[in-house]
Amino acid sequence: MKRLLPLLLSCALLAGCGAGQASPSAGTDADTQYFFAMDTIMSITAYDGDTSAALVAAQQEVNRLEALWSRTRPESDVSRLNDHAGDGTAVPIQPETARLLETAAAAAQESGLAFDPVLAPVMDAWGFGLTESETTAVHRVPSQEELSALLPLTRDLPQVTAGEDGSYTAALPLTGQAADLGGIAKGASAAYVVDALTAHGVENAILSLGGNITALGHRPDGRPFQVLVTDPLASEDGYLCTIALEGGLTCSTSGGYERYFESDGVTYHHIIDPSTGYPAQSGLLSVTTVAADPALADAWSTALFVLGRDRALELWRSGEGTVAGMELILVTQGQQVYVTQGLEEGLQFHGEEAGYTYEIVRR
Ligand code: AMP
Ligand code: MG
Repeated sequence: MKRLLPLLLSCALLAGCGAGQASPSAGTDADTQYFFAMDTIMSITAYDGDTSAALVAAQQEVNRLEALWSRTRPESDVSRLNDHAGDGTAVPIQPETARLLETAAAAAQESGLAFDPVLAPVMDAWGFGLTESETTAVHRVPSQEELSALLPLTRDLPQVTAGEDGSYTAALPLTGQAADLGGIAKGASAAYVVDALTAHGVENAILSLGGNITALGHRPDGRPFQVLVTDPLASEDGYLCTIALEGGLTCSTSGGYERYFESDGVTYHHIIDPSTGYPAQSGLLSVTTVAADPALADAWSTALFVLGRDRALELWRSGEGTVAGMELILVTQGQQVYVTQGLEEGLQFHGEEAGYTYEIVRR
């Protein structure tokens, strides 16, 4: 039964993620766990160690983190932080939440607030917020006045304070503010999943946590895992390219095609430009980052989607800062695909028939 279920579910998984895993696990002792968490389908395949216990522990970790970071659960750290926005309360939070808020703040500052972890009031105005499920979400186009009134509630980052006893508190300075960590939480979870797997002797595994693929170790045949990068224009499953991934690296994809709605013939997607409050229009269809830190891979795929091709490549070429240590795949609306040089080996490009051309970007 375990073998059949992954095959049945893999279509949904690949369609929803923006990137998927192309490596077969048949013929090995691999064990796969599929589950729904953080509003998406996740999968974890472990190739060695105590796979059954490891997968149970890994899923428990994701559930534990979701209970801390969810905006829809009233007792979560994030909900309590949001409930006390502007009232001066220092809300006790778990160390994992403190670490997440600090990583999010670092990405926000370094990206010039293209990544903004307190965009929730604006996300909610578009209906991309609390009711994230596509079946219940009420999407609408907010007026310019409404957005102008909400924008001052963004940008002021949560203040995290460490106590001498190792405890943490956080506070949001302004009334009406709210954190939304949807652009970083799934990636951040990967680090905890990897720890849970490793604790059960797993050295080789592939995790797919909603658009974020982490490759622990390598495939059973010793070669890197192969990860599929979605064609953002394909109406059904279509893949632009395959890249090689191993050694703990994470590949994270963000694209406007992942969540959107149409109104009066205009398409509005879920990645918001914090400087305008409108869906980002940077000329990109998707951004894929490959990085050692899964939380940063996730945050920066969102941030670079907002910043656009020129700024993304400028940051990558600069040789300094977080993006310079990543590899990137940028897909433009003109169907040009830019792949940074570190991904050249192991790249298989499939996009020609669909009208894409690609180039390798070098420093
Ligand atoms: P991702 O799929 O990782 O690109 O994250 C998209 C999610 O991040 C959205 O559904 C929002 O919850 C949130 N989000 C949208 N725009 C931004 C932004 N500019 N900065 C931070 N988070 C954002
Ligand atoms: Mg992201």
